[in-house]
Amino acid sequence: MPKIDYLRISLIDKCNFRCQYCMPEGTELDYLLSQELLTNREIVSLVRDVFMPLGFTKFRLTGGEPLLRPGLVDLVRDLARLPMTEDIALTTNAFLLGKLAQPLYNAGLKRINISLDSLIPETFDKITGNRGKSRWQQTWSGILTAHQVGFDPLKLNVVVIPGVNDTEVLDLAALSIDRNWHIRFIEFMPIGNSQLFGEKAWIDSEAIRGWIRQKWGLTESNIKGNGPADVFKIPGAKGTVGFISQMSECFCDRCNRVRLSADGWLRPCLLNETGQIDLKTGLRNGKDARELQSQVNQLLLIKPEINFKERDSGTDKGSYTRTMSQIGG
Ligand code: SAM
Repeated sequence: MPKIDYLRISLIDKCNFRCQYCMPEGTELDYLLSQELLTNREIVSLVRDVFMPLGFTKFRLTGGEPLLRPGLVDLVRDLARLPMTEDIALTTNAFLLGKLAQPLYNAGLKRINISLDSLIPETFDKITGNRGKSRWQQTWSGILTAHQVGFDPLKLNVVVIPGVNDTEVLDLAALSIDRNWHIRFIEFMPIGNSQLFGEKAWIDSEAIRGWIRQKWGLTESNIKGNGPADVFKIPGAKGTVGFISQMSECFCDRCNRVRLSADGWLRPCLLNETGQIDLKTGLRNGKDARELQSQVNQLLLIKPEINFKERDSGTDKGSYTRTMSQIGG
């Protein structure tokens, strides 16, 4: 088993997009009240006093949409300054990145993953649930600004949905050819929206690789991330294409992460909500760092069991009660 040293921290459950697979229309999302969110100070204290002593060195800020979180730049600065921080990254939809890319970079953020499911404004707006003025252009400019500011590598996450954006796989993969951009194709997971896409809502990564291979050829890349992606290269390309295949393949044996929700629940596995623990209440009730460490440590010890045996039965309610935006994707 790999060392579990990677914490994904959700900063907020709200989002300015409403992607159909993440926050399906018609679903009542009870947003957290601001007093329920961990404060910046609480996040820093959990990271410094609880997670770092247990060996955590890699952190990713996510949501919801993390750029909506007040005080984000200060939080990045505080986390980047901690002596044990080896890596700090952010996942965003890039809509607000035009203004924030430079301040975030200056605060110490060096890596960004951006979700971009389509290069066609109409499709993009359909997926992101937008009915007014198209938001594609501002998103694209946000991505270009991040690139200019110096975020390197720049990763683009694409959830491939049959009948919606699968025809764009080659155009999206082509973005890796001229720039050092890394395109990650993610299999849709039945979290938050199990019904929307019917029985088989995802496209196996192997099928996507086949399309790319047929057009350009595909070689295994020696650039490996620390995550679950299988990484390949179009011959001669500057960047890579990667595949996150949580539905067609099980990569539990490579999983090095746990997730902290915006309201302080620590989740051992994305596909498991029965094993999560509440850190916020303990913290607010004055539990000391050692007690919290021991709680987290217990969870880390049982994580392999949860990953392998309970990932198909990680909910006792029949379907997951939290959407990806609420867990922190
Ligand atoms: N708002 C940010 C963004 O758009 O990147 C961060 C949060 S979002 C929940 C993080 C990632 O989760 C996005 O890349 C999104 O596409 C992915 N995601 C959300 N729901 C998903 C699902 N049901 N299956 C697979 N990926 C999903």
